[in-house]
Amino acid sequence: MVLPPQIILLGEIPMLENKFNKFLSLPEVKFIKKRNLTNHTIEFEAIKQSTFEVCPKCATKSYKVYDHVYVNIKDTPIRDKQVFLKIRKRRFKCPNCSSVFREPVQGIVKGFRSTQRFRSHIRWCASNFTDLKRVKDKCKCSTWMVYKAYYEQLNLEVKKLDYPWPKTIGIDEHSFVRNTKTHFKEFATIFVDFNNDRVRDVALGRSYDELSNSHIIDIKGRENVKNVVIDMSSTFKKFARTHFPNATITVDKFHVIKLFNHHLNTIRIETMKHRVFEYLKRVEPLQ
Ligand SMILES: [Zn+2]
Repeated sequence: MVLPPQIILLGEIPMLENKFNKFLSLPEVKFIKKRNLTNHTIEFEAIKQSTFEVCPKCATKSYKVYDHVYVNIKDTPIRDKQVFLKIRKRRFKCPNCSSVFREPVQGIVKGFRSTQRFRSHIRWCASNFTDLKRVKDKCKCSTWMVYKAYYEQLNLEVKKLDYPWPKTIGIDEHSFVRNTKTHFKEFATIFVDFNNDRVRDVALGRSYDELSNSHIIDIKGRENVKNVVIDMSSTFKKFARTHFPNATITVDKFHVIKLFNHHLNTIRIETMKHRVFEYLKRVEPLQ
């Protein structure tokens, strides 16, 4: 009996192995063995698959394996089980400068004993859990590790956000809190990156002096900005003219319509007060 092709495909173990590796493994690493160390700890033995490595000292390709070493790397837990990767790393000998070096693995920073995704997992736990003990219990690591990974990951995110001005930006104000002493609303100015659909930066205050003395003017690439979208505020117009010299200033459609509606409504109310309408209001119920 000949089975339909899909049944044969489902039964193919290599395909499942590939999926398993793709789902759990790091980009360049292949799992070759799984071991349960305890009821709550899993170990995956893994190897890196590449034909050559590049010498970190002289950037020469090396194909010659010198020897092997095992490294134990902590990875993101699977459900409640701790995961360790036991990676069999090759050490290469450079044909040019004869130095011996270990192959790097994508997803593990040199010298670190845990994967980047595990450190990112700690950062997620530290942001979402209410106390440090829960983070420690969930990630099975020390307080020191939680602090280290948390601030390291935050720094990485800050670096990602630090890029020059895009081509099109928007400037708008936003009130977020009322001052407890003066009872006036406090304002912040938001700079929107329209090219990437995200907030680029926020500055406290909304006056020209506050914005000119803020960190906003330190962001590089002000001359790259070609379009600045603002409301009808003269402060933002002055700020955009001074600090974004190559930009065309556009007034946001939303603010124009809002202003138009306000005037239209004022005229409507005034018109309705006219004596003709007052008369009609009185006679209409009789008809
Ligand atoms: Zn070399």
